[in-house]
Amino acid sequence: MLNTSNFSCRMCGACCRIKDAIVRVSDKEIERIAKFLGIEENEFIKLHTEVSPDRKSLTLRSREDGACVYLTDENLCMINQVKPDKCASFPYEWTNPDSSVVCPGLAECVN
Ligand code: SF4
Ligand code: SF4
Repeated sequence: MLNTSNFSCRMCGACCRIKDAIVRVSDKEIERIAKFLGIEENEFIKLHTEVSPDRKSLTLRSREDGACVYLTDENLCMINQVKPDKCASFPYEWTNPDSSVVCPGLAECVN
C-alpha cells in the first residue's frame, strides 16, 4: 500500500527518465505549453511531440536515452508551470505498479 500523505519529492528526475514512458498531451495542453514557450502550436507539435504507439494521441518526445525533452541537466522541468496534467498529478492521483521502485520519494511511502 502507498500512502502519499507524507510524500516528498527528491527532485531526482527519475520519473522523467523512464524509457518508453508515455506522456500524452491534449489539445489544451499543447495550447498552453506552446504559449508558455512562445512558439506556434504547429511548431511545438512538430518539434516536441510524436504520435503515441497506439496512434491515438500525441505524446511528448523523449531523447535517445529515454529522458523527456524538457528535463534539464539539473533534473528540473523546463515547463514546470504548464507541464502536462499527467506529470502534475503524479504520484498523488496515479502511480504504476513499479513507481515505488523508480521514485525514491515514493519508496518512503510504502506501508
Ligand atoms: S514535462 Fe516535465 S515533469 Fe513531465 S516528463 Fe517532461 S520533464 Fe518531467
Ligand atoms: S522520481 Fe519521485 S522523487 Fe524523483 S523527481 Fe520524480 S517524483 Fe520526485
